[in-house]
Amino acid sequence: MNILVINCGSSSLKFQLIDAETEKLSAKGLCERIGIEGSKITYSPAGGEKEETLAPMANHTDAIRLVLNALTNEKTGVVKSLDEIGAVGHRIVHGGEKFAQSTLINEEVMAAITECNDLAPLHNPANLIGINACRELMPDTPMAAVFDTAFHQTMPEKAYMYGLPYEYYEKYRIRRYGFHGTSHSYVSRRAAEVLGKKYEDLKIIVCHLGNGASVSAVMGGKCVDTSMGLTPLEGLIMGTRSGDIDPAIMEFIAHKENKSIDEVMAVLNKKSGVLGLSDNLSSDFRDLEAGYRAGNPRAVNAMETFAYRVAKYIGAYTAAMNGVDLICFTAGVGENSAFTRSMICRYLGYLGVELDEEANGRRGEEIAISTPESRTVVMVIPTNEELAIARETYRLLQ
Ligand code: ADP
Repeated sequence: MNILVINCGSSSLKFQLIDAETEKLSAKGLCERIGIEGSKITYSPAGGEKEETLAPMANHTDAIRLVLNALTNEKTGVVKSLDEIGAVGHRIVHGGEKFAQSTLINEEVMAAITECNDLAPLHNPANLIGINACRELMPDTPMAAVFDTAFHQTMPEKAYMYGLPYEYYEKYRIRRYGFHGTSHSYVSRRAAEVLGKKYEDLKIIVCHLGNGASVSAVMGGKCVDTSMGLTPLEGLIMGTRSGDIDPAIMEFIAHKENKSIDEVMAVLNKKSGVLGLSDNLSSDFRDLEAGYRAGNPRAVNAMETFAYRVAKYIGAYTAAMNGVDLICFTAGVGENSAFTRSMICRYLGYLGVELDEEANGRRGEEIAISTPESRTVVMVIPTNEELAIARETYRLLQ
């Protein structure tokens, strides 16, 4: 069965068509600038050439229509008709406390996702628009919602409660939710498989280090803690997000710079992280690494501070689980930057971590990068959130 995986943002939409039985990718692409002048669709059939087409898209329904046209196009399409698309899997950012698992979409589910809009005002409404656009064009095709927060719903109360008045939890459900759950779940499970160990027997720390970055502690196959919080702003220092700071800094900046709460939030989300730390050199670790090697002190400081924060979270989660068997790196930086991995692992001598520099230098493999003697295993597992969404969707239909 072909499953169309949709990841819908406010002005962009990523898609992949995956054969659920063989788990092979048939085609993928991206619609950009939806509802804005100069919208564009990029489409790549597996084994074929990437096409970029400027096409007006007034809204997400137009975008999905273009996606479906591309997939069924006589020349470069990968299916003959829409009947060959058995289901659609939607990535949904926030499922609040309502969704501890993926689910097939019906009216009740749509209403429950809508109720989570307050918790993710930038993301959930866009996700819902994507579902509605697909339902309009494929009314009889089953659809599933796969939540970024669901995997973390197993966290115990002591890990998800903030030290705030309890009434805020009661009234507004203010608590830690965590994100990147599909990735943390996929990577931790896959690492156990590759290692040939039982998932349920392991204590695993997953470092999802991309532009957005988070760490999770997975014990006995269940998430017990994670670094992102009510929103994706908490935890690690990210590409442009600050991660953990003293909350009083917000008031301090607001007064000194005469900024509103929204303006301060924009600074913390878009101008901070390694971009801010490097004095606007870059949010991209390729540039920072080049800067580090060239001796640029701001790049050195940004990378050192980033790595130190990751190492501190690994320490915290080792304590939370009373040990760790396996540390996994994934996502853009985690998969590609041997330099960053090695900077982080330098802090892990107390866990008996010994890096195999040759293995650490390889790219694109599911691989142990620690030596056979290393007391704790360290691995790189490329994440594949789209495949995980396709699998979930397929499973729900069985
Ligand atoms: P997101 O999904 O959060 O946008 P990704 O997981 O795709 O992010 O990661 C993107 C980041 O990965 C880039 O900003 C860049 O910092 C980093 N990255 C990608 N390739 C490399 C590389 N070869 N070396 C170092 N960093 C890389």
